[in-house]
Amino acid sequence: MYIIMVASECAPVAKVGGLGDVVFGLSRELEIRGHSVEIVLPKYDCMRYDHIWGLQVSYENLWVPWFNFHIRCTVWFGFVHGRKCYFIEPHSHDRFFERGAYYGFTDEHVRFAFFSKAALEFMLTAGKRPDIIHTHDWQTALVPVMLYEIYKFSGMENCRACHTLHNFRHQGIAGENILWFTGLGRPDYYYDRNRMGDDFNPSAINFTKGAVVYSNFVTTVSPRHAWEVRHTEWGYGLGHILYVYQNKFGGVLNGLDYEMWNSETDPHIPHRYGAGDFAGKNKNKEALRARMWLRQEKKPLIAYVGRLDMQKGVPLIRHALFHSLHRGAQFVLLGASPELGINAEFWQLKHEHNDNPDCHLEIGYDEELAHLIYAGADMLVVPSLFEPCGLTQMIALRYGAVPIVRWVGGLADTVFDRDYSDRPVRERNGYVFHQADNAGIESAMDRAIGLWFDYPADFRDLAANGMHYDYSWNRPGGDYLHIYELIRQK
Ligand code: ADP
Repeated sequence: MYIIMVASECAPVAKVGGLGDVVFGLSRELEIRGHSVEIVLPKYDCMRYDHIWGLQVSYENLWVPWFNFHIRCTVWFGFVHGRKCYFIEPHSHDRFFERGAYYGFTDEHVRFAFFSKAALEFMLTAGKRPDIIHTHDWQTALVPVMLYEIYKFSGMENCRACHTLHNFRHQGIAGENILWFTGLGRPDYYYDRNRMGDDFNPSAINFTKGAVVYSNFVTTVSPRHAWEVRHTEWGYGLGHILYVYQNKFGGVLNGLDYEMWNSETDPHIPHRYGAGDFAGKNKNKEALRARMWLRQEKKPLIAYVGRLDMQKGVPLIRHALFHSLHRGAQFVLLGASPELGINAEFWQLKHEHNDNPDCHLEIGYDEELAHLIYAGADMLVVPSLFEPCGLTQMIALRYGAVPIVRWVGGLADTVFDRDYSDRPVRERNGYVFHQADNAGIESAMDRAIGLWFDYPADFRDLAANGMHYDYSWNRPGGDYLHIYELIRQK
């Protein structure tokens, strides 16, 4: 099968969060299974160019229709750790992707509507006719709409669209101008509630709703979250349209790239180790402490890695820090937030704990350091308010760090409580709490810290259970192929 992924991120070259990991990992798995996969991305100026091999111009003059004129683009080709990637570089005064950051601009909808249009225009003019176009999140949600409303009539009628929703909170809410820019036009037609008209804002179109209506199949990133978005507030208003299209909607648990996240071969950690080799893991703990100026003492090390976003339970992350110290554990944090207020709050915390030998906060994005933290930590907290899938708990499991998570979304699908799960003992791999409050997270942390101090052998067994889990792309890769086959026959 010939598959083209169109996305705003791909790890490690352009990664902000889990979306980037998924685009890379799924593409790799599909290629291993013998399928041809290409990835189309914007050519951001801030990308990690050191992860691209053989970058060269592939298509010089791609003229993309935009409103009543054209924007010239150069399309580049390069390999990102073996994946075939095309990078679209528009030449316009707007400098859509030359702004020193991936996201966070006031014309976000215009930037990504343009990218979606350019990706389709590139396929059309370069003669690419994939069996499947797989798009991700709101940034590329207009691709299925334009495929079926415009490009289908220019020779792309055999392409099928699969759309994956990684985060329902951001849906791409925009005004009529996007319709004129992209050539879709006809506001009366698209503002219809059965197409792209937003259910809550009559003067807006909703990109994600468009993707749900027009795609041949829609997925989200865990079965539990697929239920939550239809039946709870976590659908952020899309519950009804997902109900209407329930027959083409499902949850596929994300996989983890086991090449990239492998404690036995990881180039970013000083001591490589396998399942059950806790002496090796301990050496990484010592290295992590040295790197973070923490004292070397017999204490458990608890970590948080991830975006500092309200979704991730910011007050609970903060509380986890204080509670760790209160219970005689050490705490490290690696995270950043685009929201100035949250960033400032954590900078303040960092200054307050500057001289504390049991605590260190690193505010920023650091891929290499993240690897060392997973390898060195005994436990990882993930107290999210909602979590479509979550990768950090899966990475923690793989690196023998016991996850302490809230029972939501993909966290509920991947972490099984040591004391209360109804699974067999050997399949229990962490600690789970339900209430999103201090008492909730304390109850789970106390049980984890207690086990570490009082029954270290049992704690190691629990961590080893986690290391034996298979959360690779093996299974989800097969699930996506089934979906592709299903829609290809339509
Ligand atoms: P989300 O997609 O909501 O951000 P996920 O748990 O699905 O959350 O994925 C987060 C990914 O991003 C993980 O691979 C994690 O290691 C990585 N990550 C998040 N924040 C940072 C950071 N500050 N530095 C390094 N890696 C980070």
